[in-house]
Amino acid sequence: MHDKDRLIVLVVEPSARNRALICECLAQLPEIELLGASTGSEALQMFRQHSPSLVLLDVAQPDTQGISIARAIRETEQNTQHLGLSRWTPIIFLSAVTDEDVLAQGILAGGDDFLYKPVSEVVLLAKVRAMLRIVAMQEELHDAHRKLREISFLDSLTGIPNRRHFDETLSTEWKRCIRLESPLSIVIGDVDFFKQFNDIYGHQAGDSCLRAIASSLNESLFRVEDMVARYGGEEFAAILPGTDACGALSVARRMLRSARELRIPHEKGIGGHVSCSFGIATARPNADQPAFDLLHSADANLYAAKRAGRNQIGLPKQFDHAL
Ligand code: GH3
Ligand code: MG
Ligand code: MG
Repeated sequence: MHDKDRLIVLVVEPSARNRALICECLAQLPEIELLGASTGSEALQMFRQHSPSLVLLDVAQPDTQGISIARAIRETEQNTQHLGLSRWTPIIFLSAVTDEDVLAQGILAGGDDFLYKPVSEVVLLAKVRAMLRIVAMQEELHDAHRKLREISFLDSLTGIPNRRHFDETLSTEWKRCIRLESPLSIVIGDVDFFKQFNDIYGHQAGDSCLRAIASSLNESLFRVEDMVARYGGEEFAAILPGTDACGALSVARRMLRSARELRIPHEKGIGGHVSCSFGIATARPNADQPAFDLLHSADANLYAAKRAGRNQIGLPKQFDHAL
């Protein structure tokens, strides 16, 4: 187990004696934890397992195994992107000879700096500190990116996912359901007589009402893969992957009930309270059909519910005979 506050430095050096000397020197930096590897395959296995913050890599002459390890490290980083970001772990080559061609090759392969053996303790410590400073800055940038991404995917009024988040999730879930050959349902909800609610109680009250409805709809979803987003002004949309029409109807019923159970007074609303209408659509996703068609059907069923008197669920055609 690693101490997560300490930075891991991987020292790849075939000679046990040299490795021990380097590690002894670096042990002066209290914030780092050291790992040693003597071969390329051991180095790569450790890199994948421990995600070090810095790699010191021997590039022995005439064999240039160090350079191919650097290349493999960069490939690994490219293949393990997270949220569109890949890590860049600084690599310092340790070389016994000052050959310019080897230096140029090393940098092209993804290395960041060269140190020539015998390495002075002062220079080694200074270079490692400089690289770890860059690592800390990279970490800060990644954190900022993650936070911005989170913010850009949430609706600022209600705190639930926004339409951008919805569109992205629908696209990935659509593809996933094609692969799994499973159904996907959508439930669209719209607050009834909401313009009049704003007119009577004011915009602030309208905003509070939307917040309460958003959380009640969110709490109506029980599966981790389900999500409900604010789709527009007073419209909400839920994606239910792997859920057939009957399952979607159960979810929509819970949503309908949970909005009513808030018992938000609305003098022009149904029975004196705020309500929502819903439309359901279910598909067995396939590559020839755009996900957008499903939204369109859910919307049509929502408007059928509105026309039929609101505070109800507009059902897909397959229910015509079943109910
Ligand atoms: P229906 O039952 O047919 O859905 O009628 P409605 O009045 O709910 O629908 P309409 O589309 O006429 O009005 C929607 C209202 O939602 C008008 C708009 O001002 C209000 N609205 C949209 N976004 C917000 C918001 O963020 N905050 C507040 N307070 N009101 C909003
Ligand atoms: Mg509307
Ligand atoms: Mg409305």
